[in-house]
Parts: sequence; C-alpha cells; structure tokens
Amino acid sequence: MYKRKIIYFLIFAIIITTALSGCTDNQQPTETLSKDSFMLGTFVVVTLYDHQNEEIIDKVFNRFDEIENRMSINIETSDVSKINDNAGIKPVKVHDDVYYVLKKAKEFAQISHGAFEPTIGPLVKLWGIGTEHERIPSEGEIEENLLKIDYNKLELMEDNMVYLSEPGMVLDLGGIAKGYAADEAKKILLENKVESAIIDLGGNIFAVGSKPNGDAWRIGIQDPYRVRQKHVGIVQDEDISVVTSGNYERYFEKDGVRYHHIIDSKTGYPARNNVAGISVLSDTSIQGDGLSTAFYVLGVEEGLKLANSLDEIEIIYITKDKKLYLSKGVKDKFEQTNEEFQIVTP
Ligand code: AMP
Ligand code: MG
Repeated sequence: MYKRKIIYFLIFAIIITTALSGCTDNQQPTETLSKDSFMLGTFVVVTLYDHQNEEIIDKVFNRFDEIENRMSINIETSDVSKINDNAGIKPVKVHDDVYYVLKKAKEFAQISHGAFEPTIGPLVKLWGIGTEHERIPSEGEIEENLLKIDYNKLELMEDNMVYLSEPGMVLDLGGIAKGYAADEAKKILLENKVESAIIDLGGNIFAVGSKPNGDAWRIGIQDPYRVRQKHVGIVQDEDISVVTSGNYERYFEKDGVRYHHIIDSKTGYPARNNVAGISVLSDTSIQGDGLSTAFYVLGVEEGLKLANSLDEIEIIYITKDKKLYLSKGVKDKFEQTNEEFQIVTP
C-alpha cells in the first residue's frame, strides 16, 4: 500500500516538474542540467538553466544528504533522534543547522499559536499516515498523546544545547526541513554564480533568479482536485519560494472521511476545515514551509489575518468549495488559469 503511494507520488512529482518546465517552455535553452533523487521523504529535482557543471549540482545533493542525516526522525543517529531519545533525560548538543531550524520552528509556533507545532511527533506516529501502520486511533490514545505536545517545552539553550523537558516528547521537523534544504540549495547555487535554476522538493519550488532570458518564472499552483495535471493559476515572479501544503499529499480515507498528514495540535486529529490547499510565496523557503503547515491548520479566516500581518509573505488558499482566497499583495503576481475556481476578495 505504502509502496503504491510512493509510486503514485513519483508519477505526480514528475508531472508537476514537467508542468513547471512546460510553463517555462519556448524560451528555455536546450542546455539545462538536471538531477533528481528520492530524499528528504520526497522526490527532489534540481535544474540549472545557465550552467552545465555537475559539480555544482552534486554539492547541492550532498547538502541535502547532510540535512537529512541531521534532521530525519527515521535516522537513528540524527540530531533530532538524539534529542527525542533524551526527552525528559538530558539536553543534547546539536549541529548549527538543527539549532537554526529549531529556532525558526519555535518562532513559527509562537506566531501561529501552536498551529505549527514542532513537537507534534507523538501524534504523527500515532496516526502513522502514509505508513503501513496508518489507522484511526481511539479517543483515549489521542488524549494521552496530546499531553506530550507543547513547543514551550522545547528548550533551546546556550551552546547549541537542546532539551525536550518531558519524557515521551517527540520532535518532528517534517513540516519545515525541506524549506531549510531549499534555502541551503539556493545559497550554494548563488555561491557558484548560478542565476537561473529551479529547486523542486516534491512540489515545493524555489525559483532561483529568473528564466535564462531574464523573464520572470511562471510557477503553477496545483489544483487539489486534479493533482495529476492541472493548475488553478500561475504565480509570476523572480527569485521566489512557493511552498504548498495540501490534504491530497498524504492521506487515507475511511467511511468517506479523509485523514491527512497535517495534524491540529489542539484536537489531535488531522486539521478539519475548509482548506484543500495553501500556497505560501516568500523570499525564504523555511518560512514558506513552516507557515504553509501553520496556515493549513489555522484555516482561511485566521490564516489570512496572520498572512496580512506579515510583510514578507503572501498566500493563496484553495478551499474545498473551490474558492481562492488571496492575501493582499498576491494579486499583482497571480494569474488565474482555471475558471472552475472563484476568487474571493475578503
Ligand atoms: P507540510 O507538508 O510541510 O505541511 O508538512 C507536513 C508534515 O509536517 C507532516 O508529515 C508531519 O511530519 C509534520 N506535521 C504534521 N502536523 C504538523 C503541525 N501541526 N505542525 C508542524 N508539523 C506538522
Ligand atoms: Mg510545511
């Protein structure tokens, strides 16, 4: 079952990538360099449009490896696993990468009042969505695990020491690590004078610089109802991160209810609201990633309030009743391409 999902996901990721490059078609030079791999829990593709240097692209993939080895909850020797193993026992010294991501994670938790919740691990494990163990837990199990969730008990101390102060707490950086990885990839590309590239981490896009001819990139926003092929619209911009969280990425269905992978830390259940997808446009992908997860949980009303209070990001909500809610600054950059959806200006 899980394998089948991975295969579907791979097909989906390839189509997204094709759709994206389709958007950039006729002006592309033929001499692009692209590499892909399954890592960071997703299908990763990096494409350089103005360089042919494999060393640069290898540096980026080595960096992805490093980040995964430090942050994955599935790698026993990762810093995150060490923090989890020592929950309620003792603080652990972590690498600068991990410390930085945890600082950001806590900041996003604070501004979203726990909608982004880096200590969501016990509930992610309990539901097991996208794994062989996925199931609907009992109320009792949910209650019990909710007690272990509180970002205030994630202590970031001097000298890169990190402590989860209660036994049984579990960090999960699945909602933010890919964003950090994209930012680090971009940094490497800029250091190597790349001015035109697309970093695609399972549909989370960092469009670096501009198209090789100097035009802005055109990035498709996924239609949650036709995941395989369609966009609701196009974002046109340079040097921009576009990160999407959706209820169609990883889920199972039982008795007509969809149980997806973004958990509301207040209820212990997959977030239940009118959101089908939420895309965040930002200068850094760590913000886009952390906040896309938060905006999913917050829902349209609260989410738009938060987005409009933050200067550095813009958002596009797609709701289950096929409406598009845009934050204030999106309108100049967004072109609707699918008339089935209706733009609502709140
Ligand atoms: P994303 O696809 O970026 O929205 O991230 C979803 C992933 O983040 C899940 O697969 C979990 O690993 C983790 N996660 C789930 N719910 C939350 C939450 N409320 N806050 C932070 N991370 C979460
Ligand atoms: Mg995220």
